[in-house]
Parts: sequence; C-alpha cells; structure tokens
Amino acid sequence: MLDPPQPDRADEGYLPRPCVLDPVEVVDLPDQEELPDDLRAEAERWAEAHGAEYHRALACRPGWKVGGWPSWHLTDLMPIDCTCGARMQLLLTVDSDDDGPNVCVGRYGELRVFTCPADRSHPVRLNIQ
Ligand SMILES: [Zn+2]
Repeated sequence: MLDPPQPDRADEGYLPRPCVLDPVEVVDLPDQEELPDDLRAEAERWAEAHGAEYHRALACRPGWKVGGWPSWHLTDLMPIDCTCGARMQLLLTVDSDDDGPNVCVGRYGELRVFTCPADRSHPVRLNIQ
C-alpha cells in the first residue's frame, strides 16, 4: 500500500486511513416517507411477509455508498432541490464508521452529495445527517 501524502498539521480524526475498496452491490430502496401511500403499504406488507422490516432491511442502507437513497434519521423527509427546481438525486454518501477509512463526518453522521438529474453541470448540494 502506498504512503499517502500527509498535511503539515491536521487532527487525526480528519485524516482518512488508507484502505482498500471492496464494493458490494445491494438493493437500496427509498425511505417510506418518499413512497406514495399505496406503494408504502404494499412495501410494508411485502417486507412483513418476508420476515423483514422495510426500513431496516431494504431502505436507506447504511455505509459508504454510490447512489441509493438517503435516510432521514435526524429529520423528517427533507427534499433537496436544485436551483432549477428539479429534485436532486443522491450521488454519494460518506458514512462515519470505525471501519474502512475511519472518517468521522459531523457528529458521527453522514455526508451526502446530491446532483441534479436535469443537468449534471448544476452545482452539487451537500447535506449532513
Ligand atoms: Zn438543476
């Protein structure tokens, strides 16, 4: 493994630890609040019939991820809109954890990067939960 360059001064907690990516493809469904009522009820019935809780097993999966759906565990659903009016989509989630790069975001939260589906040249928006 290469030795990455280090800044002259920085708190240890802000320096990512070198690690190896080990991506895994998973199904990640939207938060229940993002579903229309009829689809929400159907998703809950399906999860229950399969012995799972929708929001724990199928939706807003934790960890670092590209794509997928954001969780709204600290607030109610908070749509992230672009200046053009389009509802932005989750591009990347940086999750605080003790594994992997050992990055801590905010108060041990998640940094989320959203992009505009209408025009990828529109500025990204950040959100922390
Ligand atoms: Zn836009």
